[in-house]
Amino acid sequence: MAITGTQRFQGVQQGCIALLMGCLLVAVLLLASAAAWAMAELTPEQRAYVAAHKTATLCVDPDWVPFESLNSRGEHEGIAADLLQLVAERTGLAFALVPTKDWDESLAASKEGRCQVLSFLNETPLRKEWLLFTDPIFNDSNVFITRVEHGFIDDPASLTGESIVFPRGTSMEERVRSEYPNLTILTTGSEGEALDMVEDRKADMTMRSLIVAAYAIRKEGLFNLKIAGRLPNFANNLRVGVVKSEPVLRDVLNAGIQTITPQERGQIVNRRVAINVQTGTDKALALKVSIVFAVVLGLGFIWNYKLKKYNAELTRLSQTDLLTDLPNRRRLMTAFEAELERARRYGRPFSVIMLDIDHFKAVNDALGHLAGDRFLIGFARLVRDSIRHTDMAGRWGGEEFLVLCPETGRDQAAHLAGRVLAAVAAHDFGTGRAHTVSAGVSAFESEDTGDALLSRADDALYKSKQTGRNRVSVL
Ligand code: GH3
Ligand code: MG
Ligand code: MG
Repeated sequence: MAITGTQRFQGVQQGCIALLMGCLLVAVLLLASAAAWAMAELTPEQRAYVAAHKTATLCVDPDWVPFESLNSRGEHEGIAADLLQLVAERTGLAFALVPTKDWDESLAASKEGRCQVLSFLNETPLRKEWLLFTDPIFNDSNVFITRVEHGFIDDPASLTGESIVFPRGTSMEERVRSEYPNLTILTTGSEGEALDMVEDRKADMTMRSLIVAAYAIRKEGLFNLKIAGRLPNFANNLRVGVVKSEPVLRDVLNAGIQTITPQERGQIVNRRVAINVQTGTDKALALKVSIVFAVVLGLGFIWNYKLKKYNAELTRLSQTDLLTDLPNRRRLMTAFEAELERARRYGRPFSVIMLDIDHFKAVNDALGHLAGDRFLIGFARLVRDSIRHTDMAGRWGGEEFLVLCPETGRDQAAHLAGRVLAAVAAHDFGTGRAHTVSAGVSAFESEDTGDALLSRADDALYKSKQTGRNRVSVL
C-alpha cells in the first residue's frame, strides 16, 4: 500500500508526541523518586508531632564561624544553618530562632526550657543530664594550634608544663580537662581571644576544629600560628541536642538528618569555608593566603591519615602476640568478655578450649630455645588452621593457647578440640618425633562468671594432664 506525504507527516508527528510523552513520564518519575528520596521517612507518631507543633524553638552559637553565627540581621547562618535548613525542608518542621548573646546563654536557655533544640554540639556526659542527642549531623576532627616554633604534638599526654586555652563551656575543655591532667587549662571568652592568647604567648596552644582552623588561618592570615597535631580519638561528632522532654522531636530530627548525603555536606562546607576574595585587594596576599590554606588543609589531612594509620598499627601491635602473630591475652580477654556478654544476654551457647603443649620443655631442652620458638610458631599456625573462622585462637601465655568458640555447645567444642589434637599428632614439626597437646573444654552456663568459665577449662586441662596427656577433658 502506498503511503502519502500527509500520512508520513502524521506518522512522524505521532512518533514525536509519543516520544515527548515518554520523556515527560520519565521526568515526572525521576522527580517523584528524587522528592521521595529527599523527604524524611517519618512514622505516624512523628508526622502527628510535626503536624501538631509545626515549629521547634532553636538556640545556636551566635559566634562560631563558619559553623554558625547570627548575621547583622539576626539570622542564623553557616554550616549548621544550612544543614538544619535541609532537615526543616525534609521533615516539614520549622525552627524558631531564640536569639542569645553567646553560647553560654544558649546552653542556659536550653536548660531552662526556653529553647527545645541546640543546633550543633558534641555529646558529653554533662550535657546528657538535660539533653537527648541526634545522630551526628556533621563530623570534624580537632587540631592543636600553636605558634610555628612548637613541635608536632604526637601524644598530648607527654606534654609537660604547657597551657592550653579554650573558650569557656566547650565540650573539648571538659574532655581535655579530664583526659589530660598534665595540661594547664585556661579559659577565655571566645575563640578569637583564645587565638590571640596563643599569639601573645599567654598560652602555648589552643584547640579548634580543623574546619574552623582552616577558615581562621585563611581569613585572618595567621602566619605565625600552625596546626601542630590532632587530638587522637576526639573527632568532633557534631549532633543536634534536644531537651529531654521531647524524645519524638529528636526522632523527627534524626529522620531528617538521615536524608543528608555526603555530597550535600561537601557542598555546604565548600560554600561556607571558602572566603570570597574582594576584587581590588592585594592579589599576591590573597594568593599567599590561599596557598597557606591549601597547605594547612593538606597537612591536616596527611596528619590525620598518618595518625590514623599509626594508631591502628599501635592498636594491632598491642593486641598481637609478637612470636606467633596470634591475638595475645589482652585481645583474647576483650573478645572473651564480649562473647560472654552475648551468651549471657541472648542465652547463646559459648565454649572455650584451653590447650597446653605436652612436654614442651623437652623440645627446648633438646633443640634449644630458638627451635622451641619455631615450634610455637608452627603450632600456632596449625591451631589457627584447624578451627573455624568464627572461632578465635590466641596465645594465653608460654605454650598455652586459648580458643574461643562462640555459638558452640559443650559437645561441639569437645569435638573441635579433638580435631586440634588429631592435627597436632599428625603434624611434622621437624623435630624428628611426634608431639601431642592436651585440652580442657568448658561451656558457658547461665550463672557463669568469666572467671568460673575459664577456671573450669583450666581444671579440665589439668585433668587431661593428670590422666595421661594427649586427650580432651570437659568440665
Ligand atoms: P606439660 O606437659 O606438663 O605441659 O609439660 P611442659 O614441659 O610443656 O610444661 P612446663 O610448664 O614444665 O614447661 C613449659 C615450657 O615452655 C617452659 C618454658 O621455658 C617454655 N616456654 C614458654 N614460653 C616459651 C617461648 O616463648 N619460647 C620457648 N622456646 N619456650 C617457651
Ligand atoms: Mg604450661
Ligand atoms: Mg606444657
